Parts: sequence; structure tokens; C-alpha cells
Amino acid sequence: MNEQISQSDINQAGHLTIGGCDAVELANEFGTPLVVYDVNKIKSQIEHFQEVFKNNDVDYAVCYASKAFANTAMYQLVDSMNCHIDVVSAGEMSMALHAGFPASKMTFHGNNKSLAELQMAVDNGIGVIALDNFHEIDLLEQVLAKSNAEIEVMLRITPGISAHTHEYIQTGQVDSKFGFDLESGEAERALQTVLKHSRMHLIGIHAHIGSQIFELNGFEMAANKLVELAADWKQRFNYQAKVIDVGGGFGIRYTDEDKPLKPEQFVDTIIKTIKQASQDHGLDTPAVWIEPGRSIVGPAGYNLYTIGSRKDVEGIRSYVSVDGGMGDNIRPALYDAKYEAVVANRPADEIVEHVHIAGKYCESGDILIQDQPLPKTQPGDVLVMLDTGAYGYAMASNYNLNPKPAIVFVDNGKATLVTRRETPADLERLDYGLDGK
Ligand SMILES: *Cc1c(COP(=O)(O)O)cnc(C)c1O
Repeated sequence: MNEQISQSDINQAGHLTIGGCDAVELANEFGTPLVVYDVNKIKSQIEHFQEVFKNNDVDYAVCYASKAFANTAMYQLVDSMNCHIDVVSAGEMSMALHAGFPASKMTFHGNNKSLAELQMAVDNGIGVIALDNFHEIDLLEQVLAKSNAEIEVMLRITPGISAHTHEYIQTGQVDSKFGFDLESGEAERALQTVLKHSRMHLIGIHAHIGSQIFELNGFEMAANKLVELAADWKQRFNYQAKVIDVGGGFGIRYTDEDKPLKPEQFVDTIIKTIKQASQDHGLDTPAVWIEPGRSIVGPAGYNLYTIGSRKDVEGIRSYVSVDGGMGDNIRPALYDAKYEAVVANRPADEIVEHVHIAGKYCESGDILIQDQPLPKTQPGDVLVMLDTGAYGYAMASNYNLNPKPAIVFVDNGKATLVTRRETPADLERLDYGLDGK
């Protein structure tokens, strides 16, 4: 049996349960492919983060990086948990506002925010803009002047730290599209520019060194660098950073090759590093902000599929196909991301073979899992892919004009449809046809 599953996850019918709900019944009731989130897992990870801050007695914000997974229910859930959020587009801002999420607890990120997006942020009283480049500072100044408004900002710094992770998801090294470079003096020029703009109130400094990081070391280095920078700016510009935001990137377990620390252990080390370094430099301890995305939603998410056709390539391998694939989870095709799966209606059956789990999309690269150990399966079985909650539905597409799946939140045995499945009509809703409008 998969080591992520325990006997208590299997009910009397011999089916896998998710958040107290029978996974086979979920598939029957809501159809497949289906995205399921266990609400308790989301809540408890947020609580673990919050506890570690309280135990270390620092001011803090847990800012959920909503690009990892956003829908109206998720914004409402994280609001109920007293989180802040990161948003990176007008779309995320708009959905969060629509969900009733307080604008004051949003941080707006991105390396190419448009004038319209900045205007929207200012008009709606978004809490903090994480400034990324000089062009954006100019645009924001224009918006603020025109609107006679003021806003809090942070400076996103590229600290020149390369975290050990897949290269497509590194953002902290010098060669990055994000942020003001530290070594070249760009960051310092950004500070001087922002301090001249009286409508921008600089609350602190930000760095995000990458994603799916397993080593503490990169975070310690980044935390130390940010405090050193704060100390330098205090001394030379009499600027006192109130917030140090270390971003997210805490690695999670996808397969038994991953051996991550608990996400809150990363945060514990980061906080202690910042406290110590602040003390060493004679600074007041700043508030510490974190921006976890994957670690909050990744392990809480499950993708359910129905098994269909099978192809046995004599002497080479077998392909077992499911009714979803790269349209609902592009990470295996995009990043060579690895996952594990369990057959929901026979989770404890003896493993008899290793097969490739193939998606239904017209790309040879649409293989969700390579060499997945499986019991004997047949068409109609329900396959559950584990840990799919981050950057799965968030990156979903309509490739091959497949509709996006429905999303169900399960909470202590209760299943709630929070996003409906797309229909062919949804796919046609933007089209005027050959005759145009
Ligand atoms: C993507 C991103 C995050 C979240 O990263 P995870 O790996 O999902 O924790 C946090 N902060 C910023 C600025 C990001 O771009």
C-alpha cells in the first residue's frame, strides 16, 4: 500500500477516503476528472505556520500565495484563517475581492504589472504593492498622483542565492526576471527612488528564492542577507524596514524520493535567523512575513480520474489511460514533476505491475506518472493522484477543448461543490463565429 495512505484512510467498503468522504462516491457523484481538497489539511498547515510565529513571539503575516490555487471558496477559507494573500494579476485581485477578501491584506506581486492593474490596486485599496522594477515605480507614481492616493509598498530584492531545486522554478539567483538586483546596486537605487516618492510608504523588503526547496541553508542565507541589507539601509539612509518578507518555496513530499522538513520547520529557522541577525546588527526585530503557496495546498489536493483504455507494448511497458491529463495537471509535462497515485476502489490490493499513467490529451508527453505501481486494474476504476493541490488546477487549460474539472471541498465527511465543471457552452462563450460580432 502507498506509504502516504494509512489503514484509517480506508472505509468499510474497502475504498479510499478523503477528508472522511468515500473517494469512489465523490467520483460517482461529481464525475471525473475531479479536483478534491481536504479542508482540514489546508487549515492545519496554516495553523502550524501561525503557531511557529506565536512560539517565537514575533509580529507576522502568513500570506497565502494564491497563484498556487485560487477560487472563491479558497479565498474565503484563507480569510477565515486570518491569512493575508499574494495576488499576481487583475484576475486574482478581482476574484479575491469578489470573495470578500479584505483588500488591505493583499500583496500585489509580479514582474510586469500593467498600468490598469496598478490603477485597480490603488482604486481598491490593496494593502501592499511588491515593487519589482523601475518601470513599475514610474507607473505607480502616475497612478497615485492622478488618484491623489497613497499606498504601502515593499521592494522585491534578488538576493543572489540559488536554491537547490529544479531550474525552471528558481527565482532568487542573480539571473532572474524578478526583482531588484542587490549586488549591482540596483536595489539601493530603488530604495532612493521610492523614498523620494511621498505617496509610497515603504514598509520593508522582500525576497522569494525559489520553489519546492528542501534545504534550510538557502532560507538562512536569504534571511541574513535581508537583515544585513536592512541594517545597511538603516545606517546609511536612516530607513527602518518594518517588514522582512522571505517569500515561500517550502518543499513538500510528492514521492518517496522527497524527504522534506515540515514547512513550519523552515519557518522556525527563518524567524530565529532574522531575530538573531537583527539583534547582532542592533535593529528592532521586524515583522516576518511568509508567502507559502504549495505547502498550504499541495498535500491537501487530490485529482480523481476514471481509468479507461490500456495499451501493452510487448516487452517494453504498459500504458493505462485516464480521462484527464495535462489539461488539469501540466506539471509532469512541464517540469517533469513526479506524483504517486492510488486506486480508490482497491487501495490495499496487491501491487502486480508498474505502468505509465497516460492522460487523454494529444501529446506523447502527456504522461501523468511514469512507472506507477498498481494492483490489477480495469476500466471504470477510480485513480486518485496524491498531492496535486498546488499549481494543478491553477495551471489548467482547455487544450483539446476539454472542459476544466469541477472542484469539491471535503470537510469531515461533508462534500461541497465549490467550482462546477465546465461545459461545452463555457468553451464557446467567447466566440462570435466567422461572421464576427
Ligand atoms: C510563487 C511565489 C510564492 C509561493 O511559492 P510556493 O513555492 O508555492 O510556496 C511566494 N511568493 C512569491 C513572490 C511567489 O512568486
